[in-house]
Amino acid sequence: MMQDLRQAGVADGGVLAAMEATPRELFLTDHFKAQAYEDATLPIGYQQTLSAPAVVAKMTEALEITDRMKVLEIGTGSGYQAAVLAQLCRRLYSIERHPALLQDAEDRFQELGLVNITTQAGDGSLGWPEQAPFERIMVTAAAADVPDALLGQLAEGGIMIVPVGLDENDQYLLKLRRGEDGIETEELGPTRFVPLIAGLAGP
Ligand code: SAH
Repeated sequence: MMQDLRQAGVADGGVLAAMEATPRELFLTDHFKAQAYEDATLPIGYQQTLSAPAVVAKMTEALEITDRMKVLEIGTGSGYQAAVLAQLCRRLYSIERHPALLQDAEDRFQELGLVNITTQAGDGSLGWPEQAPFERIMVTAAAADVPDALLGQLAEGGIMIVPVGLDENDQYLLKLRRGEDGIETEELGPTRFVPLIAGLAGP
């Protein structure tokens, strides 16, 4: 997997080290553990997916995280992306709308000794106002548009990565930066994510 990532152009040593230290199979059900280190998107239940390693790496790299930062992730899912982020930042806040997925993710954080992750079951498109502002925000589900609430919780100089577009075949990754003169937007290329859905999921 590490060789695949380098070949895919991932150069950030911190990102590579965090991914090397994170056992991806721990975040998958038994049925998919054998494929854990292939460069593939894999199902995690509830019709949700864990992105391919190269996508996780590229998005993490694009976030330009340092160890002093407070980071918000939307869509905890399996917890894999959160585990990678948590090794690079000071504190990670992560919100998931499926309580059952969140419970499993929390068990994994505990098993790995990742004590700087705080989670919440809820609608991540509203962000986490009590903890705002965040220096970095990563959204791992696709929205029709950049959620306003999240933009409002991005610190001065902050960066947000968000997949935008509801048509799975016409989605792209945006990198937004809050500069002195407002928001600068950069398009990072096509991508494919499950949709960001409002409200907490039922059982
Ligand atoms: N980052 C995850 C993969 C995310 S899949 C990982 O590393 O495994 C997208 C996740 O976003 C799913 O778990 C889905 O339930 C969640 N999601 C979708 N809409 C949401 C919302 N409004 N608030 C919080 N989580 C949401």
